[in-house]
Amino acid sequence: MIYDVAIIGAGPAGLSAGVYASRAKLSTVIIEKMFPGGQAAITDKIENYPGFAEGIGGEELTDNIKYQAEKFGADFINGDVDKIEKLDNKFIIHMQEEKLEAKTVILAMGAEPRQIGVKGETEFVGRGVSYCATCDGAFYTDKPIVMVGGGDTAIEEAMYLTRFASSIHVIHRRDELRATKILQERALKNDKIKFIWDSVVEQIKGEDAVEEVVVKNVKTGELSSVFVDGIFVAIGYTPKTDFVKNLVKLDNQGYIITDDHMKTGIPGLFAAGDLRQKSLRQVVTAVSDGAIAAVEAGRYIEEQ
Ligand code: NAP
Repeated sequence: MIYDVAIIGAGPAGLSAGVYASRAKLSTVIIEKMFPGGQAAITDKIENYPGFAEGIGGEELTDNIKYQAEKFGADFINGDVDKIEKLDNKFIIHMQEEKLEAKTVILAMGAEPRQIGVKGETEFVGRGVSYCATCDGAFYTDKPIVMVGGGDTAIEEAMYLTRFASSIHVIHRRDELRATKILQERALKNDKIKFIWDSVVEQIKGEDAVEEVVVKNVKTGELSSVFVDGIFVAIGYTPKTDFVKNLVKLDNQGYIITDDHMKTGIPGLFAAGDLRQKSLRQVVTAVSDGAIAAVEAGRYIEEQ
């Protein structure tokens, strides 16, 4: 069988593309290597998705979109795509164990958390170093931790972690947060959160697990230590575009360059969501990208 639309990635962009494609009666498959929902599914609460005035759990929201896509007939398969080839008017999608064919492909693999790149970071992943507050927060009940970063993710996750941790030091490389004002105000008012400004992590130390985070003041060069059980890192994301880097045009940070129609430049190949070069990466813009990509995929098939 050859699918009309193959969507790689089941985050909000891929799931939304799945809803639009399957509802338009295009045979649709969504391939995901981990769990559906992407980064949004591990977000405790989404407060700015229009229509949910009291906020909605990220997992609940993405589960609903998945259900909606299934209801209209989209197929879901587990698979780790490592290569996409275009042959004549179709695409061959290679996974480790199998391959499938589609007339169009929507790339929606999203992005993954960026690493700090210091000594001890990789060594202590799962033993005190974490990139996901909702996944690992409960391990730090009544324990001191640090959060690295000053953006929306770092501040939102630091607020979430106050439910568990005894104290949270937020280490930020400047003296001003990047996070939106409403989050800043909440965090600055929270007694459990303290800020270490103008500073970066120099090294993560411990015996079997994290015990100490060495911090460097970027203005004075002075080194100091915070003694903690955990370090959460939220310093942005890297797009998961490695296996398409020879196929589509990427910007210098690895994001896929598309036009407003989500077209990558290769006929029939579209990109949607956080892996795309764009000015706002949110669930609301991801689902919008997915919808546009699916409609454009349908138009492309009709034109063929
Ligand atoms: P981000 O906005 O790119 O912020 C990354 C933070 O990490 C910045 O404060 C940055 O410092 C710092 N940083 C970057 N590289 C660093 C390094 N090597 N060492 C130390 N610090 C470093 O990333 P994000 O917070 O993950 O957010 C990603 C996107 O998702 C944004 O568009 C954000 O608005 C969105 N988001 C929105 C919400 C929401 O609306 N509720 C929630 C989560 C995420 P500088 O500030 O100095 O650059």
